[in-house]
Amino acid sequence: MKILVTGGAGFIGSAVVRNIINNTKDEVLVVDSLTYAGNLESLAPVAQNSRYRFSHTDITNSVKIEELFNEYAPDIVMHLAAESHVDRSIDGPAAFIHTNVIGTFVLLDAARNYYSKLNAEKKASFRFHHISTDEVYGDLHGTDDLFTEDTPYAPSSPYSASKASSDHLVRAWNRTYGLPTVITNCSNNYGPYHFPEKLIPLIILNALAGKPLPVYGDGSQIRDWLYVEDHARALYKVATEGKIGETYNIGGHNERKNIDVVKTICSILDRLIVNKPKDIASFAELITFVTDRPGHDMRYAIDATKIKNDLGWVPEETFETGIEKTVHWYLDNKEWWQRVLDGSYAGERLGLT
Ligand code: NAD
Repeated sequence: MKILVTGGAGFIGSAVVRNIINNTKDEVLVVDSLTYAGNLESLAPVAQNSRYRFSHTDITNSVKIEELFNEYAPDIVMHLAAESHVDRSIDGPAAFIHTNVIGTFVLLDAARNYYSKLNAEKKASFRFHHISTDEVYGDLHGTDDLFTEDTPYAPSSPYSASKASSDHLVRAWNRTYGLPTVITNCSNNYGPYHFPEKLIPLIILNALAGKPLPVYGDGSQIRDWLYVEDHARALYKVATEGKIGETYNIGGHNERKNIDVVKTICSILDRLIVNKPKDIASFAELITFVTDRPGHDMRYAIDATKIKNDLGWVPEETFETGIEKTVHWYLDNKEWWQRVLDGSYAGERLGLT
């Protein structure tokens, strides 16, 4: 099968591509404009494989996207390209509307034109898989309730509103034009190759540098953490076996308060790092509470029963095993994150160094 993966140079996209190339016989075309979040070095482990190709393309460029569909002739599209950082969406929402809403529209329309020209056999296997977030559901205030596929949409941030819009477009292209689509909404991912602006890598790298570990508000917000490689396996299952027109929630059954996530990372580092920076006895001494994010959602938690029952997917990692692997990965892959922190990955990916 030929799979066109948008956003394949990003955190989850690169895990999806590594999983497909390493564990299947499928071919992949990555379509990515390489924003600050795109990093070809996350694809280095598969870059030499003859089943892997890369196109430096913006998904809002309708002419180029149409050409790529016709040239590559994908069997499946997995759409992950997005602006994905909530804080950035509060400071500058325009890029989020442009990529997440307009970009998704451009892809859907190109897919619709392409699909209309396929023969019956190709039509039967074609899927447009849209990867989205549980943040479209807003937040939960009780301790027991969970997001299901039927939870009404109530996004809080410009980011989640743009993703909610794109989900609605995907459903409309299925209902109105008969495009075979599937949607997944997942919880917070963590794991290797995560850009250091997100909570878990930020905490690991700040701790190693002896810098303050910023925690929003009192740290009592709850997130449901999903190990990125578990997510990549779930996405492949949905893309290849998911029922057309359906939505699947994907979660790790790992609800943790933000402050507890930070303390867990500190205790792993306390165990692993003998020579601590500054004069600290424990990395937890670096925890610093900062002014809460405006509109900060209180709790997200996913009910992943449907994907378990219908497609037989369950996560392999618990939070304890996944976070241990993640901390080890950052300790063992200093070159990757140092090049992100000093910006040199950007120069190289644009051919400037
Ligand atoms: P990311 O920010 O790490 O990567 C996004 C990728 O998209 C980058 O490679 C970037 O270069 C590319 N991109 C951005 N704008 C583009 C454009 N206009 N044209 C082409 N490429 C463009 O994001 P991620 O964390 O890997 O998330 C991937 C998807 O999963 C997103 O759609 C996001 O909304 C969704 N999601 C992420 C999480 C999470 O915890 N990270 C949780 C739920 C859902």
